[in-house]
Amino acid sequence: MAFLKFLGTAGARFVMIEQLRSSGGVWVSFKDTNVLIDPGPGSIVRCAASRPKLNPTKLDGIILTHKHLDHSNDINVMIEAMTEGGFKKRGVVFCPTDALGEDSIILKYAANFPERIEALKPNSNYAVKDFSFQTSMRHIHPAETYGLKFNLGDTSVGLLSDTKFFKELGSFYKTDILIISVVFFEPRQGIDHLCLADAEEIIRLTQPKKAILTHFGRTMLRAKPHIQAEALTKRLGIEVVAANDGMSLRNFRLT
Ligand SMILES: [Zn+2]
Ligand SMILES: [Zn+2]
Repeated sequence: MAFLKFLGTAGARFVMIEQLRSSGGVWVSFKDTNVLIDPGPGSIVRCAASRPKLNPTKLDGIILTHKHLDHSNDINVMIEAMTEGGFKKRGVVFCPTDALGEDSIILKYAANFPERIEALKPNSNYAVKDFSFQTSMRHIHPAETYGLKFNLGDTSVGLLSDTKFFKELGSFYKTDILIISVVFFEPRQGIDHLCLADAEEIIRLTQPKKAILTHFGRTMLRAKPHIQAEALTKRLGIEVVAANDGMSLRNFRLT
């Protein structure tokens, strides 16, 4: 079995705070392995509300692209779930180095629950059971941030997390399915996030079979992501869709 499910599509702070969209991250199941990427606020609630339910005690790994709250808030409760309340030492947590140490987002008492905690480095490979992934170069974002690339069977998936635009993104993220965090509708100087025009440029450079926009800020929501996605599809001749909370991708051919 392989599927990927959006437990949230909220981007900027206010969309998260007002829960205009959920902020639960992305759940990936591949063969016998379950991983949760960026469990933001409400991730545990979204798992329970998911139909069919997603059971966080079955997680094998938790991956943070960076430590900002909209990506990491539920990390401790998810560690508790993955390790059955800390009674079963299991699972792996992957996060950038600046999410650990003195200002760790993982509570001290929970840090010993998982089998291991791995600090992410740029352009490196990691694995937990059947799921392996590669980190991108360091993104341009106030916290140490990496995007991810992984294969679900013969389909390559890129998850482009928060960053300011830079053209090297176009070479790393050449994948079949590319998920892009698009916070702003219009360009905003001085804030390290992508706007819609940046996403368009990245799709043009990477030529995926399918691009998925997510992590929407308020201006993107006002501009109706699905309408913007349709316009991009027409302009680029590439299927672009806007993610919704609860949306899932299935039917990956397992190899
Ligand atoms: Zn974010
Ligand atoms: Zn961020």
